[in-house]
Amino acid sequence: MKTQQERTDEELGLAPCELCGTLFKPGSIVGMFRGDDGNLIGGVCPECLNAGKEGVKDRIRDAIKHHERELQRLKGLGV
Ligand SMILES: [Zn+2]
Repeated sequence: MKTQQERTDEELGLAPCELCGTLFKPGSIVGMFRGDDGNLIGGVCPECLNAGKEGVKDRIRDAIKHHERELQRLKGLGV
């Protein structure tokens, strides 16, 4: 296995959305998400910010599916 150093997301000024995981460039206005318990979860991307409550749920479900596929892919590497 070979790894190669690339520029990190942070160096590019990108941060992952706390809901969907999409990398986005936080601007001066960053949406912050609070869970139903009122706890601050973190910064969210413009798409999640504009998706509305039901749209955000769909985006989170899609993110979960993506992470489940990614988990299977990583397990398949046999490390
Ligand atoms: Zn998002």
